[in-house]
Amino acid sequence: MVPREGTEPVRLAFPALGDEELAEVRAVLESGALTMGPKVEELEGLVAAACGVEHAVAVSNGTAALHLAVLALGIGVGDEVIVPAYTFPATANVVRLAGATPVLVDVDPATFNLDVGKVYDAVTARTKAVLAVHLFGRPLDWEALQSAVPPDVALLEDAAGALGARWRGMPCGGLGAAGCLSFHPRKIVTTGEGGAVTTSDGELAASVRRLRHHGIDPSADIVEPSTNYRLADILCAVGIPQLRRLDELLAARTRIAEGYTERLRDVVDVPAADEGDTHGWQAYVIRLDRKEEALETLRAEGIEVQIGTYALHRLSAYRDQGLFPGADAAFDRALALPLHERLTDADLDRVAEGIARFA
Ligand SMILES: *Cc1c(COP(=O)(O)O)cnc(C)c1O
Repeated sequence: MVPREGTEPVRLAFPALGDEELAEVRAVLESGALTMGPKVEELEGLVAAACGVEHAVAVSNGTAALHLAVLALGIGVGDEVIVPAYTFPATANVVRLAGATPVLVDVDPATFNLDVGKVYDAVTARTKAVLAVHLFGRPLDWEALQSAVPPDVALLEDAAGALGARWRGMPCGGLGAAGCLSFHPRKIVTTGEGGAVTTSDGELAASVRRLRHHGIDPSADIVEPSTNYRLADILCAVGIPQLRRLDELLAARTRIAEGYTERLRDVVDVPAADEGDTHGWQAYVIRLDRKEEALETLRAEGIEVQIGTYALHRLSAYRDQGLFPGADAAFDRALALPLHERLTDADLDRVAEGIARFA
């Protein structure tokens, strides 16, 4: 539908790119080293520093990061991996792609994150890992997760939306055995498509590096065939200046989030991080009963709201795993509001006024 006359659409996302990114891309084009060049390592160094880990391996996208983290841990046929029932489907898809079984566990609809008490109940002798999500950038209570599973169960972070977020001061993407980041345009740092695996385990990093590049090992042999999940230098160049100003980018998103919270806290359920944590604000997702109506009407008015994410048990691929009332409540009520640094106070007023009509 066409927006009301005289009103500009309010975009859901808008990447924070400018002259610095242009200059970096230009330098890559002039260098002729378009892939497997020095920009990959430069980006990886910045990502590792941001997550407080020793190694980062740049890959084609966040889904590739998740896939390689699962493969590098040796997860395959006969293994179970616990995943939240409310998440972007890639979290579970990669487990299936590796030949293992994603075991859905319900979420707490108030935080959108795993209900850790239910993680404990879902662990079996086959459980190899928990692929835990910091959904929309809200840090999951990592200590609670750690105490819910036996020490031989690996904890992996789907930190696709949590670059910049901190759990008790510690960067997300650096909490588990490995972290998986995405640089999709709706994330805080974007390369268009891109991602990274973060870890302080040198062997795991070496495996991810090998699996990213056909399975070719340092002696030029292939023991385990893999695919090509590399990230081109051109794209790394786009991410580098953003990683350098990650604090600024997070401050800008936090300012928008606070602007929404001020306007909406008495109107709908608004998102927040736990006390002492730093929200990464990948998305600002409110909860309201009349979500469907709000979604349709506001979109028709040019306000690009979006669903939060998916309830996996409602997708054909993941049916018949039981009841997930938390994921249902999250899916039925979650609405993501426009979130990017170009939003003005007038935009925030307009979005908030739009939402208030459905509260
Ligand atoms: C964005 C996202 C992904 C997928 O990342 P891509 O780069 O789009 O492949 C996976 N999980 C979560 C939680 C995400 O937010």
